[in-house]
Amino acid sequence: MAYKIVQKRDECIGCGACASVCPDNWEMKGDKSFPKQEQVDDIGCNQQAADVCPVQCIKIEEA
Ligand code: SF4
Repeated sequence: MAYKIVQKRDECIGCGACASVCPDNWEMKGDKSFPKQEQVDDIGCNQQAADVCPVQCIKIEEA
């Protein structure tokens, strides 16, 4: 199963929580976070990143 990582980046408040719980696929650049890969075969820690986001701007979809 492949997954698409969708981030509404304009809503990101740059708290760093996603990069903290999921450094494998999330990194901070300036005052926003970015996924290193937007499509992954293994969901890995991306669900935790979505769950921890205080503004719920990360969604995981089946690709
Ligand atoms: S957890 Fe959400 S608000 Fe915080 S940096 Fe990540 S995407 Fe942005």
